Amino acid sequence: MKIKAKKSLGQNFLIDKNILKKISDLILLNKNSNIVEIGPGTGALTEFLIRKKTKNITIIEKDFNLAKNLKKKFNEKVKVINEDILKFNDSKIFSAQTVVCGNLPYNISSRILVNFILNPYQFKFEKLIFMFQKEMADRILAKVNSKNYGRLSILSNWKFNIKKIIDISPNSFYPKPKVDSSLLVFIKKKEYKKFKNPKNLEFITRVFFNQRRKKIKKPLNVIFNRNLNCLRELNLDLDLRPQNIGLKTYFDLVAIYENLVN
Ligand code: SAH
Repeated sequence: MKIKAKKSLGQNFLIDKNILKKISDLILLNKNSNIVEIGPGTGALTEFLIRKKTKNITIIEKDFNLAKNLKKKFNEKVKVINEDILKFNDSKIFSAQTVVCGNLPYNISSRILVNFILNPYQFKFEKLIFMFQKEMADRILAKVNSKNYGRLSILSNWKFNIKKIIDISPNSFYPKPKVDSSLLVFIKKKEYKKFKNPKNLEFITRVFFNQRRKKIKKPLNVIFNRNLNCLRELNLDLDLRPQNIGLKTYFDLVAIYENLVN
């Protein structure tokens, strides 16, 4: 089957059988899981998943032609949904045993991830296994005081323990992307700070990291309307920069903000 890849849909298909096997083994670690695959493309990974498991695989593909081919190719073996994952809101296909996976379209991979973190449609799932551009994976994994630490690290580490499984070279894809990729696993933390509205975490980190070189006094003034008295208990050094502020402090800031705006 000759497929012309669409750049606009971030189509870089995985063709390396060893990598596909490794990823599918990881996805199927728990035999009882349901699988939801995002952006299955030509179904290369799906095929490996089906070899070992025939039930409860749902794939969500935006490209009409690819989805049509996938329906033909897999018939009854998987449920093919021809939709845009960013607009998809049917929580019925998700359960606490669902493993959500995919070699994500890189142009929207951070939006897909942030959606699963903020989870406006209350999708249930056991874990996420996603492929990203390596540079984005580095930002997700980054620790405080490092140059990659930012919004994505804080949002991701809020709810998840994250592990890198492998880096994958451009040669494993067709067409070859320009950059390396990394496969990450996100496992839900048992305990994490609950917010009234998780979007406030996104808002606050956005204000901080839009000006990541500025001292934190500036974003704090924006967020708290120049009234920083409410922050006394945090003992913040206002000369620090956003990348020097640890996760817990960001979470505390959101809690204080939520108490004020309520
Ligand atoms: N998983 C496949 C393809 C990865 S490329 C493989 O590894 O070979 C990314 C895939 O995501 C493409 O098939 C593309 O059509 C699909 N895609 C792009 N945007 C999407 C969206 N918004 N929702 C669902 N699928 C999307």
